[in-house]
Amino acid sequence: MPDSLFIYKKAVWLASLELGYDVQLESVLPYYTSKLHYGCEGVLTRQSGQYDVAPCKKCGRRVDSHANAAKNIASLTGTLLSYDSFPSTHVRGHT
Ligand SMILES: [Zn+2]
Repeated sequence: MPDSLFIYKKAVWLASLELGYDVQLESVLPYYTSKLHYGCEGVLTRQSGQYDVAPCKKCGRRVDSHANAAKNIASLTGTLLSYDSFPSTHVRGHT
């Protein structure tokens, strides 16, 4: 989980406004989400300095590692996190 949940909650709030429906925020375990080829389960072998595209050891395709990780993450069962509205209703202290 990121250090600052706030920024993700704010992004979800903005996405909800833009899309016109409530986007839900879930926490998932990140293990292997960037290492396995979605739908194929082959191992992606990234070489040093190669972040965006990785060849799959099983099917040989060159995989967009970002889109692949997003598909893996979306396929996982997550823990629903609370929804916050912005601007924040928290009162700032005056100093
Ligand atoms: Zn593959």
